[in-house]
Amino acid sequence: MPDYVIPCPTPPSLPVAGSSARFALRRIFCVGRNYADHAVEMGHDPQAEPPFFFTKPSDAVVLDGARIPYPPATRDLHHEAELVVAIGRGGADIARAAALAHVWGYATGNDLTRRDLQAQAKALRRPWDMAKGFDNSAVVGLLHPATGAGAPQGRITCRVGGQMRQTARLTEMIWDVPGIIEFLSRLVALRPGDLIFTGTPAGVGPIARGQTCTVEIEGLSPARVTVI
Ligand code: MN
Repeated sequence: MPDYVIPCPTPPSLPVAGSSARFALRRIFCVGRNYADHAVEMGHDPQAEPPFFFTKPSDAVVLDGARIPYPPATRDLHHEAELVVAIGRGGADIARAAALAHVWGYATGNDLTRRDLQAQAKALRRPWDMAKGFDNSAVVGLLHPATGAGAPQGRITCRVGGQMRQTARLTEMIWDVPGIIEFLSRLVALRPGDLIFTGTPAGVGPIARGQTCTVEIEGLSPARVTVI
């Protein structure tokens, strides 16, 4: 061990469903506009583009049941319900047919977004980092090991204060999980511990102080967050 001048931080990690072991986190990649109806609601042509990516720091992760303060510098905190893919085996230039063998497991996620800062960044042609990568911005449920049956294909929903906001099937993704891994691994070498947020369907909207936002995916544990 080197002699560090500040305490060496413990890596952030996810709890694994049915186990006391944890999945250590490395990086978080997120897909933009991966459902046609969400691309349309954000004013884009859903067919025109290859996938694009942004990132969040891995220490932005908060776990299911977290209570987080309303984030600073925004008046428009939004939810984005998403399937999260956890990479267990790294690689670059991963072929589509081999992609699922690199997946360790799946979780439910909420890509919290400061929508007003994102709109400002878009208008000024500036980066999205402060709209997407702020503290507590990545809500993730328990990590479920991949079963060999492929990526989850069921329903994804998001409720805020009992009101249904987002509902879709994971099969509605423009770029499916193997396609995302193939494309992303041409841009960066994936490493064990990386997470991929796979994009959100239509219906994104605000979470107010005092509200609980619950994202659910069939077959996985929920990702709940309360904003205080
Ligand atoms: Mn998103």
